[in-house]
Amino acid sequence: MQGCHLKCKYCQNRDTWSTSTNNLISVSELVEKINRYEKYIKPSNGGVTISGGEPLLQIEFLISLFEELKSLGYHTALDTSRNVYNK
Ligand code: SF4
Repeated sequence: MQGCHLKCKYCQNRDTWSTSTNNLISVSELVEKINRYEKYIKPSNGGVTISGGEPLLQIEFLISLFEELKSLGYHTALDTSRNVYNK
């Protein structure tokens, strides 16, 4: 997910830092994309990991996404620094 304020010196995802980049997608659009891989994800006991950037900067979207994925039987994981202050 886009946006991170920490700017860690050795970050390998510097393209995710900006919070002004607009590539908007709805929860339903993202779930549809994820569902394309369902036949691989579920039999392999895999799941969906949300990373960034800092996903918690978009917590309302994240909660909706995880609720939807859980209702569809996906395992979920969150990769976060837990840094949620707003600049
Ligand atoms: S918290 Fe993660 S994404 Fe953000 S700058 Fe640090 S390493 Fe990069």
